[in-house]
Amino acid sequence: MSAPVPDPAAKARVALVACPDYDPQRVQTALQRGIALLGGVERFVGRNERILLKPNVLTGASPGRNVCTHPAVFAGVARLLLESGAKVSFGDSPGFGSLAAAAAKAGLAAEARELGVTMADFSTPAQVSFNEALIAKQLVLARAAVEADGIVNLPKMKTHGFMRLTGAVKNVFGCVPGMRKGEYHVKMPRVEHFAAMLVDVCRRLKPRLSVMDGIVAMEGNGPGSGTPRPMKVLLLSDDPVALDAVFCRLVRMPPQHVPTMVPGAESGLGFWADGSIAILGDDADSLACPDFQVVRSPAAEMDRSFPYYLKKWITPRPVIDAGLCQKCGVCGEVCPLEPKAVRPPNGDTDRVPVYDYPRCIRCYCCQELCPHGAIAIRRPVLSRLIHR
Ligand code: SF4
Ligand code: SF4
Repeated sequence: MSAPVPDPAAKARVALVACPDYDPQRVQTALQRGIALLGGVERFVGRNERILLKPNVLTGASPGRNVCTHPAVFAGVARLLLESGAKVSFGDSPGFGSLAAAAAKAGLAAEARELGVTMADFSTPAQVSFNEALIAKQLVLARAAVEADGIVNLPKMKTHGFMRLTGAVKNVFGCVPGMRKGEYHVKMPRVEHFAAMLVDVCRRLKPRLSVMDGIVAMEGNGPGSGTPRPMKVLLLSDDPVALDAVFCRLVRMPPQHVPTMVPGAESGLGFWADGSIAILGDDADSLACPDFQVVRSPAAEMDRSFPYYLKKWITPRPVIDAGLCQKCGVCGEVCPLEPKAVRPPNGDTDRVPVYDYPRCIRCYCCQELCPHGAIAIRRPVLSRLIHR
């Protein structure tokens, strides 16, 4: 593949490196190449610095399900950091269950043990003031993330019901501990407010480097129950907005339809416009996947300030497939509302849960975390017609 010539006017750089599969040696070679394109690992970390790796550990899912950052990518980046003399730990706040259990199932804990990478305590919160915030001037973050010398962000290339795509900016939200993530959904149910908060969290913690695992991405009903889609690519950048914009370009998604893009650029977190990003390494067009299954209309269509009689005709809603539902109750447990907007009818846990749609704030946490892929997001006919 021929290397594109970077635009000299570009303000951000994203390394795009083809990698056919998760063979550990091939992943390591691709990571080394990507880091070299960005100027070498020493640009990002120094000897004895405490660096926190932030993989995507949405929930305990085996590597074959492509929900979490793959262990080969996690281990490959950890090795590069350790070789540069950094002290490396890792952490995330899964949407359901403990980090230890989720990381073990995702294959990350075994790699971490072998490399001497410690698991950070992500359950202890720190209250952080952020006066330059777009919306969240007070943030509750994992103390381990706040106190690290630097963060290296390891997002997974996936679709997302609420934010359209989950990438580098969104991945940092996992530094909000435990159920506090749900509180942010309740406080900021509107798409643009939630996106501004995501940008604030990312700006406050400002990862030094993001490395996106796009070797096998997830399309369709992501981020927990979508379909694996080999994209055969790793993306690396110190600009998380630019990295997400290149992800958009690969899947032919208008970047401005991902709600973190515009506030991300306006707040100085990064750049998303084509002319402002230099793509280094392999050719984006030859790695692109134009038929990637993702909703390409603007996420702002889901603005939940509509009164219910309008909302039910316009706003996509979560729907349970009774044939797939295992009545495990996870959807109710992760729903941030009290009382829950999805629960078993008459408290009978042997029956498929039902939604209270007028109360539901459409955060899609239930769809995100249903362990059996039984919840899909259904777009009302009117919404589909409007955006056709
Ligand atoms: S989380 Fe999924 S499988 Fe479990 S009860 Fe809810 S819909 Fe059913
Ligand atoms: S029912 Fe699902 S989409 Fe609705 S508020 Fe609860 S978790 Fe969010």
